[in-house]
Amino acid sequence: MKKVNLSSTLLATMLVATVLSSCQKKEASSIGDESHTSPGDAKAEVYRFQRSGNTIQAYYRNHLVDLLEIENGMYLLGGDVVLKREDIRMPGDPRTESTTNGVAWPNKTIYYRYDNTASDNLKNHVWPAATQMWVNAGLGLQFVYDQQAVQPRYIVLGENQDQSAYSTSIGAPAGSMRISIDLTVYGAGNLAHEIGHALGLEHEQTRHDRELFVLVNTAGLTPNWAYQYNIKSNATPVGPFDFGSIMLYPSQNNRLTKLDGTGWPTNRRNPSATDILGINYKYNITSYTSDGTYELTTQLISRKALQADNLHDSIFAGAVRDTLAQRWRVRHQNNGFYKLTAWRDSTKCLTKSNTGIVLQTYTGVDSQLWAITPSYINQYFRLVSKTDNKLCMSLDTTGVGIARPAVATKGFKVDTAQQWQLRKIQ
Ligand SMILES: [Zn+2]
Repeated sequence: MKKVNLSSTLLATMLVATVLSSCQKKEASSIGDESHTSPGDAKAEVYRFQRSGNTIQAYYRNHLVDLLEIENGMYLLGGDVVLKREDIRMPGDPRTESTTNGVAWPNKTIYYRYDNTASDNLKNHVWPAATQMWVNAGLGLQFVYDQQAVQPRYIVLGENQDQSAYSTSIGAPAGSMRISIDLTVYGAGNLAHEIGHALGLEHEQTRHDRELFVLVNTAGLTPNWAYQYNIKSNATPVGPFDFGSIMLYPSQNNRLTKLDGTGWPTNRRNPSATDILGINYKYNITSYTSDGTYELTTQLISRKALQADNLHDSIFAGAVRDTLAQRWRVRHQNNGFYKLTAWRDSTKCLTKSNTGIVLQTYTGVDSQLWAITPSYINQYFRLVSKTDNKLCMSLDTTGVGIARPAVATKGFKVDTAQQWQLRKIQ
């Protein structure tokens, strides 16, 4: 049972990570370098722009995002990701593939070099401490020094005196990207946050399901600052909303709080369990949910299994009976999307339609592809439609009751009818 194995590994990983990080802090203290455990780590990372213009919408990685125009023809994405004109595509620009090049670093290997602003403190202490936080996560990530830049993709690491900490890419760049930090303000934890961007993580508070967990109030902010609280509709939430995420901004009274108005302690010490879950999901997708035959059951009371109707191309959730009608072939297609075909007719697969989810002959259209993402509850998953990553497979008991609920796509909720367990049969 792959899922269980994975979770055990993850748990073991977390224990190892905790132990290693304590050792690491002791070592750091013993050599008198406190820079990466300073309280400064708890600051939100920002790029201090000199000039700003309008907030605009443009495509980054083929998704429409909100950007702020800043100096030298650059654009700021979400506070600390600095993009150049060639990184983005304006609505109306001809489509090119350049902005979609590389999102995950091949072979989980991140190459880096320094520019001449990098001090020995950055090279010998802060950067090693930051990368070690990700290495300790146990996901097989490697950071490899490549001063000659012989690799096609690499990070150029440097320092600034602008009180800025920023990255110039979310995910691997097509060529080089830059990470820069002001060490008088920020420490290794903030650098680990920027590495999180380079690996492909967005800010936790921009998840599209955040309203289920946090209050965001941008009243009184100028558009220049308010836009960075906008939801990133392109990013798919993985796992529960994580108040301990290294990618979450510090809470602010009446600006960014939990639903009950309280705040959270800012974590910039280590990637959290959910940060690691997100990277594991992104970089190990095909082993995360391996191809095979599965039974899918919901977490709804009196567990229900996803079942193909024997006569019609409809789907419902029936009492778990371990019948062939409750078996689904799960096959990875591309970029983390799967097709799920019915055991009884392998030409037909789960398809999102206007009326619900039905069985249709597979043609590879987006409505037949599903991401299988970790949900809010350990061991349970969502099936997220490729047509719209805000919609997931959900039981629909409207009118039919609990005995034989229909299956439809709905917006994310904290709802057991949306959480599915995948039991691998073969
Ligand atoms: Zn950031």
